[in-house]
Amino acid sequence: MFTKVIKIDNCKIDDRLLAEAAQILRAGGLVAFPTETVYGLGANGLDEEAARKIYAAKGRPSDNPLILHISSTEEIVPLVQAVPEAAGKLMKAFWPGPLTMIFPKSEIVPYGTTGGLDTVAVRMPSDPAASRLIALTGLPIAAPSANRSGRPSPTTAEHVFQDMDGRIEMILDSGPVGIGVESTIVDVTGGVPVLLRPGAVTMEMLRETVGRVDIDPAITGPMAADVKPKAPGMKYRHYAPKAELVLVEARKNEAGGRTVRMDQGRYAAELAAPESAAEPVSEAVICRINQLVQEKLSQGYRVGIICTDETKNRYPEGIVRSLGTRGRQETIAHSLFAVLREFDDLETDYIYSESFARDHLGQAIMNRLTKAAGYHVIYASEEEEQHGRR
Ligand code: AMP
Ligand code: MG
Repeated sequence: MFTKVIKIDNCKIDDRLLAEAAQILRAGGLVAFPTETVYGLGANGLDEEAARKIYAAKGRPSDNPLILHISSTEEIVPLVQAVPEAAGKLMKAFWPGPLTMIFPKSEIVPYGTTGGLDTVAVRMPSDPAASRLIALTGLPIAAPSANRSGRPSPTTAEHVFQDMDGRIEMILDSGPVGIGVESTIVDVTGGVPVLLRPGAVTMEMLRETVGRVDIDPAITGPMAADVKPKAPGMKYRHYAPKAELVLVEARKNEAGGRTVRMDQGRYAAELAAPESAAEPVSEAVICRINQLVQEKLSQGYRVGIICTDETKNRYPEGIVRSLGTRGRQETIAHSLFAVLREFDDLETDYIYSESFARDHLGQAIMNRLTKAAGYHVIYASEEEEQHGRR
């Protein structure tokens, strides 16, 4: 299949350019398009056969449900059985925007879209091209991230092209996305809203709007084998880079240099420990990363380092990439997936990453990063911190 790429200008949405894309979607085909979070791979969300094509193009397990995208709040009515009160408040506060909510599904939503679940995920994106495309199509558009399953989500049309060339009819290219991590997902089907995936609508923002919000344990750590995460997608190892990615964290009172690869729920609580966004990365972490890098370089491996502007000059060896600045978490979220993809292209064998605060947008950043690392975390010891200080 030939994949057509069409450039669009987000400041001047041209219906004539979007018409062909809308036609493909109505005919049951696949079109990748920008949203404010990441690029999505769209299909008619009410057509099981079209949804099946999404799973095939992505190589996505068919029990991992799709999010339906709409272009105005009224479009939710035929898709769900009810809009609970909390959902109404959240819609008012955050739609259009990077918030997905889970509702009891109506009859018209096929199980082929929901991975067999009786619930459906719905989001109303704010990206002008996405919104206009959905409106022109006149259908709810199922759109998971437009990457091959297991690859980092695409934040540019080039990323989509790398993964989807020859597999889909069209890619709409409006340049890099705004946010860079996928939407926040909140389950509103029970009494208390539950956060299933952190994103740019942060826990702090949700709680300010509706009060109590619980957290699904799948967010903070690996699931025990017998526990089912509420968002089926959370059980898969997403965003896995080709290299072995290891997070290096300062953990006071930890035994030095321990490598921990846990697979029990207990770890969830440890990973959930808060840190302050303002806190600079500790000397111990910098020293430990430099030591690990040297070790691997001396063994002949290609080694990458993920850090921030504050510390990028502290790593004399290895391939150093800054994600942005700790003072502005959105810069880090924005470049995370692109940097993981770049390290794939550079064929690095090992990547060592600084870790980040877990408040605000940091919760989403650390969720994606720890998953990408397969929860492989090394703690820098206090002794090394002493040793490293000048
Ligand atoms: P993606 O579209 O690639 O960002 O992935 C969609 C995410 O939404 C996955 O983690 C899914 O498991 C989750 N999701 C979609 N529909 C539902 C649903 N009905 N209930 C719970 N999680 C859902
Ligand atoms: Mg995805």
